[in-house]
Amino acid sequence: MLVSNVSNKRDAAMDPHKQFCHNKGCRAYGRKGEGHVLIHSQKERRYRCKRCGRTFTETKGTALYRIHKPKWLVIAVLTLLAYGCPVQAIVAAFGLEERTVARWQREAGFQCRLLHEHLVEAGRVLLLQVQADEIRVKAVGAIYWLASALEVRSRLWLGGVVSAHRDRELIRGLLWRVRACGSVEKVLLVTATGSQATPARP
Ligand SMILES: [Zn+2]
Repeated sequence: MLVSNVSNKRDAAMDPHKQFCHNKGCRAYGRKGEGHVLIHSQKERRYRCKRCGRTFTETKGTALYRIHKPKWLVIAVLTLLAYGCPVQAIVAAFGLEERTVARWQREAGFQCRLLHEHLVEAGRVLLLQVQADEIRVKAVGAIYWLASALEVRSRLWLGGVVSAHRDRELIRGLLWRVRACGSVEKVLLVTATGSQATPARP
């Protein structure tokens, strides 16, 4: 149902006020809603910056950039991946190449990271209590450690760090991410290895 609903939905109207110039050499770079951007082509769904004259597609700076498959398909695949659907099942259902699905996942992950850094790691989160967890993850022929943190009251996920080594650098990397989110008053650290949790230490 998700797929048919999305595929039948018309593209949203273009809105230049929600766009900004992507040219880093332009004075209007990154500035939104100031009238710098105009609609260049409705058909191609491109915008143009009045300052530098550059045009850019509406998908520039998103996970859909330079993907030549229908938007609904990309969104459906990424949604399935986010819910843990095996890549092999997606490949079989949609007739896609495995490397294509892997590339979409990588691109989406990259954009999610940028968005997270821009919105969450911007020092504006009220950090009353932070809970950090460490999880052992099995992969094919390897073991990885995922250290992640969330703000307890809001349940906001503050970030995570993946490493092949469970060491001080892993925890330090995570704490740097937490620190970027806001000022820390108190930290509660909880560690877990696989299914065996160890008691929290003061
Ligand atoms: Zn520009």
